[in-house]
Amino acid sequence: MDDLCRGIRIFCVGRNYVEHARELANPIPERPLFFMKPGHAIVAPGAAIRFPCHGSDLQHEVEVVVRIGKEGRAGAAAEALAFVDSLALGLDLTLRDVQSEIKKKGHPWEIAKAFEQSAPLGGFTTYSSSIALDDIAFSCTVNDQVRQQGNTRDLIVPIPALIVELSRIWTLCPGDLIYTGTPHGVGPLRPGDTVTVTSPLLGSFFWRIVERQE
Ligand code: ZN
Repeated sequence: MDDLCRGIRIFCVGRNYVEHARELANPIPERPLFFMKPGHAIVAPGAAIRFPCHGSDLQHEVEVVVRIGKEGRAGAAAEALAFVDSLALGLDLTLRDVQSEIKKKGHPWEIAKAFEQSAPLGGFTTYSSSIALDDIAFSCTVNDQVRQQGNTRDLIVPIPALIVELSRIWTLCPGDLIYTGTPHGVGPLRPGDTVTVTSPLLGSFFWRIVERQE
């Protein structure tokens, strides 16, 4: 996965589930709130994730991830489905303490969201028209405790509309990834934890959090 990821763009969406925006006391944005992570941040399933050294509150955000399969811009939701190549589950790992500080200052989010290993990504399931993008159930478990349970039916901006919104700004490319937002229940990860993401449609994948050895 590593070589393949070098040139990949990861588009992420903040505050795309009402209950999650509320749990962090954030207003619901009028348009999708986009930010990016580098492809280098992708972590293959089963790998160890080193706890970052520049923050202390590492949090899981389980998200449905869309992989784009063709180049271009989708002008309308009806065109957007043709851009969907496959689907996966991912984690938008976030240093919440760092994010809180930089939000107060109005600074960019990268150090809280786009650090090394901040984008664990499960295996892909090829998209077909038999899959309802607005009814994908998924969850996140830490050790044996269920922390997050979501369904894409609760997305504020659904997947086709996200593709249209992204297309207003960027020409999409094959391989682009969209982390579509997290439901409520985000919480801390500590060294020694195993975090597992699961969906009946997309499978089950886990990562271990380990102490940084430096
Ligand atoms: Zn997120």
